[in-house]
Amino acid sequence: MTKGWNKSDWRALPRVQMPDYPDRDALNAVEGQLAKFPPLVFAGEARRLKRKLGEVAEGRAFLLQGGDCAESFAEFSADNIRDTFKVMLQMAVVLTYGAKVPVVKVGRMAGQFAKPRSAPMEKQGDVELPSYRGDIINGFDFTPEARIPDPARMLQAYTQAAATLNLLRAFSTGGFADIHRVHSWTLGFAESDKAERYRELSNRISDALDFMTAAGVNGETNKALSTVDFYTSHEALLLEYEEALCRIDSTSGLPVAGSGHMIWIGDRTRQPDGAHVEFCRGVQNPVGLKCGPSLTTDDLRVLIEKLNPENEAGRLTLIARFGAGKVGDHLPRLVRAVEEMGAKVAWTCDPMHGNVIKSDSGYKTRPFDRILSEVREFFAVHNAEGTIPGGVHFEMTGRDVTECTGGVRAVTDENLSLRYHTACDPRLNASQSLELAFLVAEELSS
Ligand code: PEP
Ligand code: MN
Repeated sequence: MTKGWNKSDWRALPRVQMPDYPDRDALNAVEGQLAKFPPLVFAGEARRLKRKLGEVAEGRAFLLQGGDCAESFAEFSADNIRDTFKVMLQMAVVLTYGAKVPVVKVGRMAGQFAKPRSAPMEKQGDVELPSYRGDIINGFDFTPEARIPDPARMLQAYTQAAATLNLLRAFSTGGFADIHRVHSWTLGFAESDKAERYRELSNRISDALDFMTAAGVNGETNKALSTVDFYTSHEALLLEYEEALCRIDSTSGLPVAGSGHMIWIGDRTRQPDGAHVEFCRGVQNPVGLKCGPSLTTDDLRVLIEKLNPENEAGRLTLIARFGAGKVGDHLPRLVRAVEEMGAKVAWTCDPMHGNVIKSDSGYKTRPFDRILSEVREFFAVHNAEGTIPGGVHFEMTGRDVTECTGGVRAVTDENLSLRYHTACDPRLNASQSLELAFLVAEELSS
């Protein structure tokens, strides 16, 4: 696959959404430093995730991918990482019950720092400044100094990603992830007022766990009940960072992105002859491709050929993000093109990026009902086409933020200002995330 590919070939191709660093010497020095650092993830782990995504492509597993829109330096804390990890595990238990297959858990974590923006400049009053592009590139503060791209930020992002991964690895195997513990948190949610519609499913899970305990299946006899496999992912947007962390896998002799287990190509950077596709096609990791309304069927064919020429199941995940009410206009033609090619892909639904609206109170938000509608439309198209709805992709946090409206503990337009903390797009809070998992589980078992 990577014959004739070099990790810096992308530099000769058109690039979009990447910063122009004013200080080239500083940039070169940072790239040199990162290139000497250990990779954040290891090739064997990326291969293992690829195998699991192959199961997703074939309907024998379900993918749950989620986390912040943009990780930030200011919000970095053990508690935040723990809370997002915790709610993802709760969701995974509920989804496992609904889907009756293993759930592959992938965080938008430990590297999700660089953001594509719809406009290069941002205006506040009479002042216009370059847009914020994520903490790995420039600063969120609306000042000329903060908005200058600073390569030293890549080193801080690397350090934060390393510490995040360290904690995630400890949480995954150190007892925190025990399925009984995880489910007891969910019982707390389902027992609360207003959540009674989820109580029955949650009680059924309790029964299943009690049965297993009685039958002698527990965390001591079966490691799968007391530990989890948890993977990381991010958009491979800042190619200087990605190239510097690219390593040769000593087992296969092939290049692998060392920045995260899975990387994806955004809806704005998927030009078939552009820099981002060129970089991603050469690494062995599982790769995601965001598919929005502007993706032509012809481009999708070319991208599948480029990104997965050997038609390996698990290599390519197509992340549909059209917006509620629009899935039926686009997904069928793309699903059919994939089927005609005989391409092995995993299809997953990102119901976040097509559903951003500006609320009356002026905040960017996403209504819970629209998110749910898009998921339902995604399932309906796959059911009609006889193809596999393989997973869901959410922007979410374990914290009690007020960024998306709706849900049983309803966040209203007026509440948005209370705890609106996102560095970029609005996220589901812990309760909204878990509620969605229950609703998706209902879809999966219906
Ligand atoms: C994202 O996932 O945060 C994102 C920017 O998505 P998209 O490329 O689909 O717009
Ligand atoms: Mn986003």
